[in-house]
Amino acid sequence: MTATDDKTIVKEYFNTTGFDRWRRIYGISNDVNKVQLDIRNGHQQTVDTVIGWLQADGNLSEISICDAGCGVGSLSIPLAQAGARVYASDLSEMMVAEAKEKARSELGDLVNNLTLTVQDLETLSDRYHTVICLDVLIHYPQEQVEQMISHLCSLAQTRLILSFAPKTFALSLLKKVGSFFPGASKATRAYLHPASEVIKILEKNGFSVQRQAMTKTRFYFSRLIEATRK
Ligand code: SAM
Repeated sequence: MTATDDKTIVKEYFNTTGFDRWRRIYGISNDVNKVQLDIRNGHQQTVDTVIGWLQADGNLSEISICDAGCGVGSLSIPLAQAGARVYASDLSEMMVAEAKEKARSELGDLVNNLTLTVQDLETLSDRYHTVICLDVLIHYPQEQVEQMISHLCSLAQTRLILSFAPKTFALSLLKKVGSFFPGASKATRAYLHPASEVIKILEKNGFSVQRQAMTKTRFYFSRLIEATRK
């Protein structure tokens, strides 16, 4: 599959069946099955860890944050609420529309702290203090991930925070991801990435790892890495 094919499929998925599925998982409604609830809880742990790291630094209101592949704003909205200036974007028009709707109802007077746009992360070009990209790389193969991480590094003045499904859990994850993406026509492939490869790419781009975390529930696996410019 070419890089364009992967992206076209991912975009189509997150504007249709993927949008419905993930909006439900990332939402608060009870209209989720056990697997989706487990993923919701796992994903929330990843989001909470990132917010905890950023709040511990004590400078949220002074920094600009790029949330690349922001989905429905699960991270962007609380960061904007905490006073950060957040530039969030996503490949899917539907995800961004949902994020805008949520931001309007949840942010009140702070709504201007969050800018939301429909954009492929590889076409982003401004520079930000901190660039964050959560649970996006799972949709792309290794060659493309190298290019994507390098591009995200070029946007980050100080820090890049990434999460991805680690290769270590390959068998169990592949089996389980199969149940989130059933049927070839609705499917995006799930790609797993060895942490050592991701760290190598970060180092090649002049970054070194500062903090790491792992979220592991029954059906959700995500390794989180914070790297800063050397
Ligand atoms: N980061 C969000 C979060 O953790 O709540 C959403 C994660 S969701 C599993 C993956 C998101 O990545 C989808 O909203 C999808 O549209 C977006 N995405 C995939 N490829 C992208 C790309 N090349 N550029 C921007 N967004 C992308």
